[in-house]
Amino acid sequence: MKAVVFTGTREVATAEVADATLEEPADVLLRVTSSAVCGTDLHMYDGRTGATPGLVLGHEPLGVVAEAGPAVEMVKPGDRVVIPTHLYCGVCVNCARGLSAACLRVRPGGFGAAYGYAGMGPYRGAQAELLRVPFADANCVRVPGEPGDELGRAGRHHGRLPPGRPGGPDPGAAARGRPARGRGADGRGGGRHRRGRLPGP
Ligand SMILES: [Zn+2]
Ligand SMILES: [Zn+2]
Repeated sequence: MKAVVFTGTREVATAEVADATLEEPADVLLRVTSSAVCGTDLHMYDGRTGATPGLVLGHEPLGVVAEAGPAVEMVKPGDRVVIPTHLYCGVCVNCARGLSAACLRVRPGGFGAAYGYAGMGPYRGAQAELLRVPFADANCVRVPGEPGDELGRAGRHHGRLPPGRPGGPDPGAAARGRPARGRGADGRGGGRHRRGRLPGP
């Protein structure tokens, strides 16, 4: 698949990398249709994070579920979803209290994790054609419409409403047996996103 890769301080490139795949039963594989470029990507771009060359960047995708693992119950292939910036399990004690940024199950040896970010776990980024989304029942926020519509063109599907805030993703929803609702996740990058689009529908 094609992806945007950090290659060194103030250097990124579009590169061919190994396809993302399902790795756990609760994963989905997302076909990314648009992916924001965030101000927080600049910490890596500018060399402030210790990011290593080869890191696939991006943490704010909109896309369509391509494949769903056998344990996924709340989304199915063909569903259009936004994926919150940081990933979380939805059922640990911190997630159930709305503190999903400190999820206890997504990063061995630490807490909290994010896609495509130095020091935030092994998860590859979303400025790519495909993204593995762990704990998909918690992390997929279904949205209406179709690829190429106003939401997809705007590329502003994240950044305003951090999880746990009114209107933001409800990370405890999966624990309560219903789909998480709300919009994107990265409050830090809000207002500074730029549109990034991938070829295709
Ligand atoms: Zn959790
Ligand atoms: Zn961001």
